[in-house]
Amino acid sequence: MKAVTILGATGSIGQSTLNVLAAHPEQFEVFALTAATNVDAMGKLCEQFRPRYAVMADPTAAQALTAQLTGRTTKVLAGSEGLCEVASAGDVDIVMAAIVGAAGLLPTLAAVEAGKKVLLANKEALVMSGQLFMDAVTRHQAQLLPVDSEHNAIFQCLPESAQQLGLVDLAAAGVHKILLTGSGGPFRELPVAALAEQTPAAACAHPNWDMGRKISVDSATMLNKGLEYIEARWLFNCQPQQLEVLLHPQSVIHSMVSYADGSVIAQMGQADMRTPIAHCLSYPQRLESGVAALDFSQVAQLTFAQAEPARYPCLFLAQQACWEGQWATTSLNAANEVAVAAFLAGKIKFTQISQICERVLEQSSAAHVTALEDVLAIDQQARRYAQEVMEQRANV
Ligand code: NAD
Ligand code: MG
Repeated sequence: MKAVTILGATGSIGQSTLNVLAAHPEQFEVFALTAATNVDAMGKLCEQFRPRYAVMADPTAAQALTAQLTGRTTKVLAGSEGLCEVASAGDVDIVMAAIVGAAGLLPTLAAVEAGKKVLLANKEALVMSGQLFMDAVTRHQAQLLPVDSEHNAIFQCLPESAQQLGLVDLAAAGVHKILLTGSGGPFRELPVAALAEQTPAAACAHPNWDMGRKISVDSATMLNKGLEYIEARWLFNCQPQQLEVLLHPQSVIHSMVSYADGSVIAQMGQADMRTPIAHCLSYPQRLESGVAALDFSQVAQLTFAQAEPARYPCLFLAQQACWEGQWATTSLNAANEVAVAAFLAGKIKFTQISQICERVLEQSSAAHVTALEDVLAIDQQARRYAQEVMEQRANV
């Protein structure tokens, strides 16, 4: 019996994880569930899964949940300390890191530093802290497994000798190149001139995947693929020539690995996150996930293309930032979080997301990152710059 903590239990990945766990009560027990503010959703999950702990990041929400769970055995904790506590508790075997954005960094690191089996969905945590994160994985002998469907696909296409993340040697494994695929999002075929007028609802209507709102907007700008490019660099220890992004609108292939002998290995499946989640939960065994196998008679065609810079400037910003240094990817991630929140709140246009990211990167200067404090300072500074850029634009 494995005890599981889910950071971000009320979200899209959290729900899919609980769906897989619920199908295997003999193998997994829910140790702790966490959420930001949604007391009702958390109350329902506590009724159903009866975790030992429930954590609300927001202290007021924690008080409301405590009142709602009177007489129950679930203990309610609050704030960042509560999140870190259930991520690192001695009785926990597996931590699903599925908080969205920078808020996930500290609890995910707490799980890594406690040497847990860490299932990483929260790509922003790795993008923000890169080498520091991977060094912590190796130092604390955590087992890191990738939930992001592309990275999970790449992982599955690598030989066992290259599956210890943090210590991957692609050249020794005979890998020529990793091909990171992406659908191109909901605006792939729109005239570029029409992008400025796209609404949050249109941006969140992804053609293939059902996801949280922030990652849905990131998919529309393809900054999501940019974050994934950075994520892949760290997970698989890539050199620039070993990593390439490829558009594949059908999302049937979830990514590929190209080998020195000309072989290309792809992982395929339905666009349903329960597949990579189940893979990580039971690795190296396989588990029923509730997802049916692909029906190839229904897969009409598989097509591929290159992403256009004019349509997806965020992707190219991220690829550039990836090789510039940690300060650049931390700044980009923070600027994007501020810009996407403003777009979702109806305060800026879709095309201003990339403009804000670009301005913040121009304003940020190369800084050394040797400790977590450096990461947090750069993150805060980029958020301030992003706010300033938005205020300047509003005043023009
Ligand atoms: P979501 O918005 O549906 O859920 C986010 C979860 O994080 C919620 O439980 C929310 O309560 C919690 N949360 C939000 N802000 C918080 C804060 N400040 N403190 C503590 N908790 C907070 O997001 P999602 O789509 O499930 O994505 C979660 C993560 O997984 C993201 O990093 C995303 O990039 C990644 N991911 C998602 C998918 C997908 O299909 N949804 C696929 C690959 C990777
Ligand atoms: Mg992905």
